[in-house]
Amino acid sequence: MKVVEVTAVEIEGTLRVPWKIATATMDTLNAVLVRVTADDGTVGYGEAIARKGTRVTKAVVEDLLAPVVLGKDPFAVEAIWDDMYATLRTRGHSRGFLIEAISGVDIALWDLLGQKLDEPVSRLMMGSARTSLPAYASSILIDTPESMAKEAAALAAEGYDAIKIKIAGDLDTDIRRIEAVRESIGPAVRLMLDANSGFDAAEAIALSREAERHGVYWLEEPTFLDDLPGYRRIRQGSAVRIALGEGEFTTAGFRDFIADGLIDVAQPNITRAGGFTGVRRIAALAESFGIKVAPHTGASGPICMAATLQLSAALSPFLIHEYMYLENPFEAFFETALPKPVNGIIQVPQEPGLGVQVRADATQRFARENAG
Ligand SMILES: [Mg+2]
Repeated sequence: MKVVEVTAVEIEGTLRVPWKIATATMDTLNAVLVRVTADDGTVGYGEAIARKGTRVTKAVVEDLLAPVVLGKDPFAVEAIWDDMYATLRTRGHSRGFLIEAISGVDIALWDLLGQKLDEPVSRLMMGSARTSLPAYASSILIDTPESMAKEAAALAAEGYDAIKIKIAGDLDTDIRRIEAVRESIGPAVRLMLDANSGFDAAEAIALSREAERHGVYWLEEPTFLDDLPGYRRIRQGSAVRIALGEGEFTTAGFRDFIADGLIDVAQPNITRAGGFTGVRRIAALAESFGIKVAPHTGASGPICMAATLQLSAALSPFLIHEYMYLENPFEAFFETALPKPVNGIIQVPQEPGLGVQVRADATQRFARENAG
């Protein structure tokens, strides 16, 4: 079996209501869809995260990675990953567009293998093979404390026992947000905070004192990921669990956070951190330090959502699945819509590969040039 074609398409979904977080406002979701075909006609789909510069990611897939992958046996998926990584590693490209594009190709290869072997990737990885996952509601967007509390109460009433809210880096209002939401959901529902790097270390420590008082389950990305000294200070000054990693890449990116004991929960995004192969390696590293993995989905495209269900089902140190309960502009991408959680539990599709059928018209319909 040999790979005979690798293509990439820029896709875009338009949000009716823009998403507001601490460091950005989004009115579209963008990604790059990767399609890999084998000589027997088997096809696999992958996705590379690409909030911006989708054209760059497409070029990396088609101009840089396709020549590495073409002619290779997809069963050598880890060796192919290493070969792709080797293309620019010695030139300093161990992060960013290169790894994001590799992630897309790797996901497509695993999907292709699943299609070929008639098994979902969650079983193909020979890990935990879970068929359902605990999920949390992600995420209540920045708003007034009152309206965020109302939204949280509705989610708790739906049966979620874990809810994440965005905070904005404005300490006083954020503390009122935490108080209002905690009061609305009661003590039994886990409450997570996502700061999207909106604080500096001193503010994060001040906020975490309040978070401790309100029984916050984790504080996510309190400051920028390249501020390792800041994370050391936050760790010393706070007893709240720290979660991060949606902006990190490969084991090399997670290694310092994990080895220095700076995090409790690793959140790699499969479409950024290295695909199934890359995240499996990160999970093995995390597990050896007693750290749990809660894969990130967030503002991603449709393949990310499907692939992350398979990934979460397979990983041994898995903690909880990030379910985006917000508007999904890619709902019509698959023949059958992805499952939604019931009472905070989401089912893992058991069909081959990523467990989904891409609709015949989906690529064209969501192609960036046709979106809007
Ligand atoms: Mg986040």
